[in-house]
Amino acid sequence: MAEKSKRQVKGPVDAMVVPRYSGFSTFARLPRIDEVDSFDVAVVGVPFDSGTTYRPGARFGPSAIRQASRLLRRYDPSLETQPFTWQQVVDAGDITCNPFDIETAIAQIQAAALELRKGNHRLIAIGGDHTIALPLLRATRAGLDSLAVLHFDAHLDTWDTYFGARFTHGSPFRRAFEEGLLAVGKNVHVGTRGPIYSREDLDDDARFGFKVITSDDLDDLGAAEIVKQIRHRVGETPLYVSIDVDVMDPSHAPGTGTPEAGGITSRELLKMLRGLAGMNIVGADVVEVAPAYDHAEITSLAAAHMVYCLLSLFAKEARGHSDGGVS
Ligand code: MN
Ligand code: MN
Repeated sequence: MAEKSKRQVKGPVDAMVVPRYSGFSTFARLPRIDEVDSFDVAVVGVPFDSGTTYRPGARFGPSAIRQASRLLRRYDPSLETQPFTWQQVVDAGDITCNPFDIETAIAQIQAAALELRKGNHRLIAIGGDHTIALPLLRATRAGLDSLAVLHFDAHLDTWDTYFGARFTHGSPFRRAFEEGLLAVGKNVHVGTRGPIYSREDLDDDARFGFKVITSDDLDDLGAAEIVKQIRHRVGETPLYVSIDVDVMDPSHAPGTGTPEAGGITSRELLKMLRGLAGMNIVGADVVEVAPAYDHAEITSLAAAHMVYCLLSLFAKEARGHSDGGVS
């Protein structure tokens, strides 16, 4: 880490020189991956939505989140970090995904994520529909002894098949369980709500060993207690955080494929994310932004802030493990 601390970090374009609404539209106006020699964290777009079961359009999520991320600033007072200068963050562009063949797209995502992960880099994927979580989990689990998933979503996403298709945005965590990617007894759904197909959906999910924290639970217990329960369950296990923006109420995230009333606020989601500080987060995704149904960038702004919060958590950990880091 000492070697890293001497490295010159290339941050975002200076907003005091070039206004934040101009210039190339990389995430937070950070450098592209080909503009630096090495990096710690890559934000990568996964413009894929052929696994959606209701409203399509999340293929345009990555570009909308990048556009909304232009306003992010360098210092995070909530976690007291400098996410863009304590670590080298890059925009790795978009993974090419076949829009007509889901299994081909999954293989493309997995291969690209494995390549980006080489050298223990952390990835934050911006989707794209939730189908992409499966290949991202596969790529993240490779080389690790175990992996837990913390899944923020209105939905369980442990359904089996849809019109005969095994790989959809409703099934990534069932497939991940079947493939043995997830640590037994360590995984959590947060924000679940709304009508489901049958009671059996819940029985199946329980069989896969997830703890379910509903949006009503959050309302009753508060973010601090929920964070306590998450930390207790996951412990030191390497953690993948998967954020479906539909975990938020449609008033906070209208631009998504499968909205459900009665969701949480962006403030509650950020508060829970910040509560993860110090946990061993190894990768993350923010998915299901479908800009065609959005208004005034409400959803893509929320998504951009979730990515920022994740970067801030990584920065806090990078600083904690270095001998002072870069300024
Ligand atoms: Mn989902
Ligand atoms: Mn969902």
